[in-house]
Amino acid sequence: MTGMSLLRQPLLALSRSEQVKRAVSTLPVSAAVVRGYVPGETEDDAVAATAALVDDGLLVTLDFLGEDTVEAAQAEATTTTYLGLLEALAARGMARRAEVSLKLSAVGRALPDGGFDLALENAHRVAAAARAVGTTVTLDMEDHASVDDTLAILREVRKEFPETGAVLQSYLHRTESDARDLAYEGSRVRLCKGAYDEPSSVAFRERTEVDKSYVRCLRVLMASQAYPMIATHDPRLVRVAQSLASRHGRHQGTYEFQMLYGIRPTEQLRLAESGEAMRVYVPYGTDWYGYLTRRLAERPQNLSLFLTSLVSKK
Ligand SMILES: Cc1cc2nc3c(=O)[nH]c(=O)nc-3n(C[C@H](O)[C@H](O)[C@H](O)COP(=O)(O)OP(=O)(O)OC[C@H]3O[C@@H](n4cnc5c(N)ncnc54)[C@H](O)[C@@H]3O)c2cc1C
Repeated sequence: MTGMSLLRQPLLALSRSEQVKRAVSTLPVSAAVVRGYVPGETEDDAVAATAALVDDGLLVTLDFLGEDTVEAAQAEATTTTYLGLLEALAARGMARRAEVSLKLSAVGRALPDGGFDLALENAHRVAAAARAVGTTVTLDMEDHASVDDTLAILREVRKEFPETGAVLQSYLHRTESDARDLAYEGSRVRLCKGAYDEPSSVAFRERTEVDKSYVRCLRVLMASQAYPMIATHDPRLVRVAQSLASRHGRHQGTYEFQMLYGIRPTEQLRLAESGEAMRVYVPYGTDWYGYLTRRLAERPQNLSLFLTSLVSKK
């Protein structure tokens, strides 16, 4: 068994317990373990974090936290929040350096009736608002059962907004084929390893297999006219991406690196200072529970810090 599956599965399972959720959700956003990954709960917090990153020469993609909405009103509120955020970025002159990331389950996809159409409509509205201020939206990828719908909505939104970003997860068996489908000119594709607990029927469970799949997908994207967005903190994959870029005669800026807020910040700066386009994913909002547990499951070393915060509630 590999390090990845050893603690990740029990942790992700534990996170679905309502008791654990109640205990963790009482943590203030200021608790060190939360603040390490989420700059704050409000739009002002998000905009301030963005300004600091942009000042440092980094690009940003902002995620208003929330997922698995089953209420139309909530989906509408989330969509409106995105529209407001885009305006706030434009007002601060940051829309060229900052885009947004959208989870379709936060804007209606999980609704039992008409979820697909509602999510499509809302994604379309966010894409239009992003275009209006000169930036873009990327559609985050969620659990494997949602991949077909997410890619179908992406195809629809791209008809009018071809700049809309896609996300592929290398842990899924299907992804190399999806990468080929998306490897066309101008196609913005974020490649990540994948953060959900997926069964072996659909996903590689061994770390080395996930990494090998990542490299295969990266080769496809780098060799094409697509715009690869290399979303990983893995130093080996960063090096592989750079060598593939030079092998294909790609200049810096014809692809970009992406990392999460709070993870390997020194490396983020180093890459930006070396001339690479480096984008930081900045999540904000009150609904940080799901996001936080995925981050902790990726790095069980964080667990002791996490448990200490739970006990001391600071
Ligand atoms: C910009 C961005 C967008 C993403 N969007 C999605 C998405 O839409 N859908 C999806 O399923 N997943 C998404 N992810 C998450 C991704 O799938 C992985 O779960 C996550 O990035 C960890 O994988 P890794 O490539 O960094 O490699 P890993 O092998 O997990 O980590 C490599 C190294 O990075 C550091 N590191 C990694 N995670 C942490 C952590 N939590 N805390 C501290 N250090 C850490 C450690 O040094 C570790 O050794 C995204 C990731 C990024 C960077």
